[in-house]
Amino acid sequence: MGGSDPGQPAGRPGRSAHPGADLAGQRRPVVSIPHTPLRPLWLCRSCAAPWPCAPARLRLIQEYADDRVALLVYLGGMLHDAAGELHRLHPDDGPDPARLFARFLGWATGPTVRCARR
Ligand SMILES: [Zn+2]
Repeated sequence: MGGSDPGQPAGRPGRSAHPGADLAGQRRPVVSIPHTPLRPLWLCRSCAAPWPCAPARLRLIQEYADDRVALLVYLGGMLHDAAGELHRLHPDDGPDPARLFARFLGWATGPTVRCARR
C-alpha cells in the first residue's frame, strides 16, 4: 500500500561543481543586518527568530500599509518557497502546514492589522 520508494533516501542537493565564484563578490554590511529570511532555514538573518520575526512583520505592515492584497500575495509566495525548502531540509519531520500558514500569513489575514501601540 503506497510503498513506492523512489530509491533515494532524501532529496538532497548533493555535490555540485561550484566554480568558486559563487561565494566571492557577495559583500554584506556588518552593521544593521535587515530582518530578512536566511534561506533555506527561514530564520531571520538579524535576530535568528523564525522568519517573519516581529521586526520583519512590523516592517512589512508599514511597507504594505496601503496594499494589503499585495502583502498577502508576497507572503503567500514566501510561504510556498518556505514549505518546499523546509520539507526538503526535513523530509521526515517537516513543518506542520497549519503552523507554517499561521507563521507566514495568519498574522496578516485578520480583520485589521494593527501596529503595536501603547
Ligand atoms: Zn528578525
